[in-house]
Amino acid sequence: MRAGRVHILVPLSARTPSTVQRMADGTAGRPSVTDAARYARQIRLAEVGLGGQARLAAASVLVVGAGGLGSPAVTYLAAAGVGTIGIVDDDIVEPSNLHRQPLHGTADVGRLKVESAAEAVAALNPDVRVISHAERFTAANASPLVTAYDVVVDGSDNLPTRYAVSAACSESGRPHVWAAALGFEAQMSVWWAGRGPCYACVFPTMPPPGSVPSCAEAGVMGALVGTVGSLQAMEALKILLGVGDPLIGRLLVHNTLAGTWDVITARADPQCASCGSGSPARGGMPRASVGAPGGVSPSLTMAEFVATASRRVIDVRPAPEQADLPGPASVTVELAALRSGEGLAPALLGDRDEVVVFVCRTGQRSAEAAALAHAAGWRHATSLEGGAVAWRRELDSSGRSS
Ligand SMILES: [Zn+2]
Repeated sequence: MRAGRVHILVPLSARTPSTVQRMADGTAGRPSVTDAARYARQIRLAEVGLGGQARLAAASVLVVGAGGLGSPAVTYLAAAGVGTIGIVDDDIVEPSNLHRQPLHGTADVGRLKVESAAEAVAALNPDVRVISHAERFTAANASPLVTAYDVVVDGSDNLPTRYAVSAACSESGRPHVWAAALGFEAQMSVWWAGRGPCYACVFPTMPPPGSVPSCAEAGVMGALVGTVGSLQAMEALKILLGVGDPLIGRLLVHNTLAGTWDVITARADPQCASCGSGSPARGGMPRASVGAPGGVSPSLTMAEFVATASRRVIDVRPAPEQADLPGPASVTVELAALRSGEGLAPALLGDRDEVVVFVCRTGQRSAEAAALAHAAGWRHATSLEGGAVAWRRELDSSGRSS
């Protein structure tokens, strides 16, 4: 990232096309005549101007994944004139990609996504240099990839890649424009170690394989990833231009069926294993409940839950569903209230040193509740794997054996 803001050279009112053209022609490294026409509508914005356009031309963005999120991200970054775009992806285009990945066409099925993406960018804006990395993003190649670019846009579709991107961004201090989508819901944020939380501050431990459904298993809407991937491009452009307030320390949760946009405040964890001191969590909690440094695990197995003596159980289901909860829930906070931020008040969640265990019927909604609470700084929030169904089964089986 380049520090400082390039000042607007001419007031908006005085910036006629001829002025733009004259300035552009007379200054090395500034947009050409062709560029002045291509970017006219954004150069007209005081926040961009000719200086901002030159800044974008000199900038570089790494997009991890040329899929559902990467398609709009790459498209809008290229259209806006970001000078260098790196694309990392080792996948080939499959028919099942096409409904949400319009960077690729039907004729591209079977080709490498990075090839198809580079062609699409060349057709849209030949001035953009695309660097294709036809490889999987892993911990092994993460550092050289990330440090070669100013901003990283994470459009990956799997947890190991997401954690590898996060670690490399934390280590290098690169802004990490992240999003994830499933079904009709998406989350996004700008993680930036040193300026706010990193991904691992909020999601400290990678969930076990198979515990989080993939888009292949659960499905996802194309227009939703289109929306959020475009927002990722916008956040990257804001950062490169040095304008506005990037989503640092804010977790955006968008449910497109409900038509809701919730913003949860996220705080850096001083003990984060990725960007903080990484020291173990303070004592006072049963060993079984202590997961990653800086907080409890994002979810508890039934055995860990049973072994956790000092816990506060919070049912996140709406009232009609609560009849099957076997134990006494000390409090009910519906997921909708957590999403809106209202349910994250200390009065509802209790003491921050107490283990807060969110429960729903099977563990899906409670996992989101725990993530929202983590994002809001409740480091001792967790979720019961298997939910009330598993809890009932456990009580039944322990009843029989005793
Ligand atoms: Zn962190």
